[in-house]
Amino acid sequence: MTQNNLLFNNKHIWHPYDSIISPLPCYEIQSTCGVYFTLQSGIKVIDGMSSWWSAIHGYNNPKLIKILKKQVDNFSHVMFGGITHKPAIMLCKELLKILPKKLQCIFLCDSGSVAIEVAMKMVIQYWNKKKNNKKFFLTIRNGYHGDTFSAVSVCDPTNSMHRLYNTILPKHFFAKEPKLSFIKKWHNYDIYSFLNFMVCNQEKIAGVILEPILQGIGGMKFYNIEYLKQVRLLCKIYKIPLIVDEIATGFGRTGKMFAYEHANIVPDILCLGKALTGGMMTLAATITTKKIAYTISKNYPYKFMHGPTFMGNPLACAVARKNISLLRKNVWKKQVEYIEKYFKNKLFPLIKHPRIIDIRILGAIAVVECYHHVNLKLIQKFFINYGVWIRPFKNIIYLTPPYIVQNIHLDKLTQSIKSAIQNNSLFIL
Ligand SMILES: *Cc1c(COP(=O)(O)O)cnc(C)c1O
Repeated sequence: MTQNNLLFNNKHIWHPYDSIISPLPCYEIQSTCGVYFTLQSGIKVIDGMSSWWSAIHGYNNPKLIKILKKQVDNFSHVMFGGITHKPAIMLCKELLKILPKKLQCIFLCDSGSVAIEVAMKMVIQYWNKKKNNKKFFLTIRNGYHGDTFSAVSVCDPTNSMHRLYNTILPKHFFAKEPKLSFIKKWHNYDIYSFLNFMVCNQEKIAGVILEPILQGIGGMKFYNIEYLKQVRLLCKIYKIPLIVDEIATGFGRTGKMFAYEHANIVPDILCLGKALTGGMMTLAATITTKKIAYTISKNYPYKFMHGPTFMGNPLACAVARKNISLLRKNVWKKQVEYIEKYFKNKLFPLIKHPRIIDIRILGAIAVVECYHHVNLKLIQKFFINYGVWIRPFKNIIYLTPPYIVQNIHLDKLTQSIKSAIQNNSLFIL
């Protein structure tokens, strides 16, 4: 039965960034619980990924399930045009409690990439209303903002999917990525490229967009908080809206509720996604200031022109609200601190290993950067046999476990990496 399912899967169903002719192997999941996946074979593995940053409370959290069931029985979906409902209202109230006072106007949408589309449209419509047709964005190399076209247009131009669509994407501005890490001493030269773009192209730049503190898919690099401070300052001086993409880093992952808090800044537009529903379902949000929202809503057509069919989906809103109210109990902070300490103790000693370039740890994120790319197929199998679910990319093996992990799970996760790096056959040498 399982074999038949897998054959059907391989023949008909596309998986992320994969081929339909010769896809990488897939593992069928039977059930989830806490930090565990149970595979169809009956094997239990610890999820070290939180299903791509999302399942921060682990799986099958009874409180999240309860609220979802209650909402299903009441109503699952209604259009948001001309209609509102308590799940959306309560979620937005809850969001405002954890956001800076400046960020007041919330646009609910389906996924992270769409939240980026919405943010970029907000910026364009903002300038339109100011009778200015600026349309280019300034961003930094190494960025990742999603897979839809506008999002791709601000992803790294050489090192990402951007390259595939180069000829049809608008030509935005790419400053050199920050070089100084989170822990290094600040030197002003790190911001020169960005500063230069800003000064030379201020008439053309409509908005700035970047990931705060952590550049994710671009290599899992933590950059200097001073860089983000300087970007904020320059955007202020040149009166250019700053979009901060917290889709991966939001909701506690880096040790702060939002990563921009490390730099003590407030963006003009904030994009949230991934962990917004605690990994239960898809939902994202783009949140902006009154100033931008009011400017957009000024003069004909007095509107912000975007409106997904499943905007404000009540099930997603109800569970997201519960997720945030769980976070507001502040247990996550101790959990994330604990994970950070554990990672530092167990992984930093590996730094001398000849396979390893660098080890970076911040909050509940551990990054092991290797000299060679992994053989994804083999290393995946190796990790499954070890009892963990870790999905590296390129030469990066990283952990972003659910905040509820205990010592035994952390031990197994870190041991599995220690063991993997001893093994030549798991790397493409
Ligand atoms: C995942 C991610 C996105 C895209 O979100 P989707 O829900 O996959 O569309 C955008 N930006 C960052 C930083 C992300 O990590």
